[in-house]
Amino acid sequence: MPISLYSENVRDLIHRPGEMRERDREFAVPEELGAGLLTVKAGENLRLDVRLESIHEGILASVSVKTVARGICGRCLKDLKQDVKVEFQELFAYSLDEAYEYEVHGDYVDLEPPLRDAVVLSLPFQPVCQPECLGLDPVTGEEITEASGVSAEPDIDPRWAALTELAASTDRGEDTESTS
Ligand SMILES: [Zn+2]
Repeated sequence: MPISLYSENVRDLIHRPGEMRERDREFAVPEELGAGLLTVKAGENLRLDVRLESIHEGILASVSVKTVARGICGRCLKDLKQDVKVEFQELFAYSLDEAYEYEVHGDYVDLEPPLRDAVVLSLPFQPVCQPECLGLDPVTGEEITEASGVSAEPDIDPRWAALTELAASTDRGEDTESTS
């Protein structure tokens, strides 16, 4: 099986409980991570800090991932960039049973599947450039800003407007809080 960039050689740790090794490395993401509006593109720099511990059942990997996701705001479609920082821990077992999802393959553990899951889960499903982003005007397609005047005053339904006028003309300061 081809060795992926996400693989770690663990030959020196196999069946040596108590042994531990740490390794940091960086590489260009070989294949896009994620499928939504915001993804980690192929070629993006990814930093991996990996701690590998040999335990009785297999190799325990504690991984920290740093990279950058790019895409567009789900409301105004502006280009977006977001730092990605995730950590996960996964046990690669010597033999699979229902308790373990991943396995040591020969001298290697492949961090890609759990890494992919962790990164994708950390990406927002509906990314926005800022929490207050107002999106695009449905009529003009232009980006809406405070200045371009989405008024804070809601349009008043004409039926209610008539009632408001009526109330104003009949109420002379008495019991205006009537809820009927
Ligand atoms: Zn936006």
